[in-house]
Amino acid sequence: MPRDKIILACTQCEERNYHTTKNKRLHPQRQEWRKYCPRCNSHTLHKETK
Ligand SMILES: [Zn+2]
Repeated sequence: MPRDKIILACTQCEERNYHTTKNKRLHPQRQEWRKYCPRCNSHTLHKETK
């Protein structure tokens, strides 16, 4: 099963905080996660980016 590398970027400051992988066959659409952003010093919405 191929797993593609993705980067999660904060939607507030656009800092790229998280590198992870996901299976694009199982999750073909862009997902959003609430993650801690050190620059914002709070939990913010993180979007998948390339
Ligand atoms: Zn941020």
